[in-house]
Amino acid sequence: MIVQLKEEITDLQKDKLINEISQIGYKITEVKTQLGDYLIGIGKNDFDIRKIGQQEGIKDIHIVSDEYKLVSKKWKVKPTSIDLGDGIFIKDGDMAIMAGPCSIESEDQIVKIINHLKATGITMMRGGVFKPRSSPYAFRGLGIDGLKLWFGLAKEACIKIVTEVMQVSQIEEMYPYVDVYQVGARNTQNFNLLDELGKVDKAVMIKRGISGTIEELLQSAEYVFSGGNEKLILCERGIRTYERASRNTLDLNAVPILKAKSHLPVIVDPSHGIGIREYVPQMALAGVMAGADGIIYETHEIPEKAYSDGQQTLDFAQSALLADWIRKTFAMRKSFTLI
Ligand code: PEP
Ligand code: MN
Repeated sequence: MIVQLKEEITDLQKDKLINEISQIGYKITEVKTQLGDYLIGIGKNDFDIRKIGQQEGIKDIHIVSDEYKLVSKKWKVKPTSIDLGDGIFIKDGDMAIMAGPCSIESEDQIVKIINHLKATGITMMRGGVFKPRSSPYAFRGLGIDGLKLWFGLAKEACIKIVTEVMQVSQIEEMYPYVDVYQVGARNTQNFNLLDELGKVDKAVMIKRGISGTIEELLQSAEYVFSGGNEKLILCERGIRTYERASRNTLDLNAVPILKAKSHLPVIVDPSHGIGIREYVPQMALAGVMAGADGIIYETHEIPEKAYSDGQQTLDFAQSALLADWIRKTFAMRKSFTLI
């Protein structure tokens, strides 16, 4: 059960409410976010809400039978819109495009990518400064100095920054320079990291775990929400299956399912999803048709020279074409309604 409390609720009214709901058999957790104050009741699902619905201080009350509560569409039907400022949104009914290199490498590289994004009308740039690499000997990112350099250049160009945070200690130092904190597939169930991101007033995009289920992705989002941060985005980036012909198996089934189960925006990452440059555009467009609210992909001036993930990275000509196709495909998707 979720009880949204009125802003003006008194401590006395709240205590009375918690007491009554507990006595019915629910275990109560109070959640305070940027937008609201909630009581989450875990327990029986067949309860008649009229029994407490009349109590003072309640704004809204719902029974949510899903394991996750606050990210469920059973609680909030209206899609969540993420406002990054300067008129830039990630939201249902829109098509966000996030593009950039796998890794931030140098000032020259950042400038070239920003120029490409500006010319292509893309307002969100992805890139890693803290890189999770399978080998400890591979390039692991420029770190916080790289982020500061990137921030200076991106701000001037009015480009928003989407970048991965790998551990709790990085959250604070990254904060002034980040628009969207990305939680990587290897960290989807790092619950300490998720808890701490709940305390931050900035958007968080959570990637699906390498072998994570849809339900586990939603539970990870629930951690951040219940920690206090409602600014959440979900990302399907492919899962590990028995198939070795592609880097991962991009599970586009997850897109309509996530959209049906949750009010959060859903982004598709075809670059990590298939891992093969030639097939990234097809999978991006398939993601658009599957109902995604945005696409994130990797681009670099010379993909063959990229410090990481060059094999799945588009050059600027391919990226410009893809951005155009994404917009056209999205316009087509909007022009008809699927049953
Ligand atoms: C990335 O976006 O560069 C990345 C490392 O992604 P993932 O966590 O999905 O592997
Ligand atoms: Mn990558």
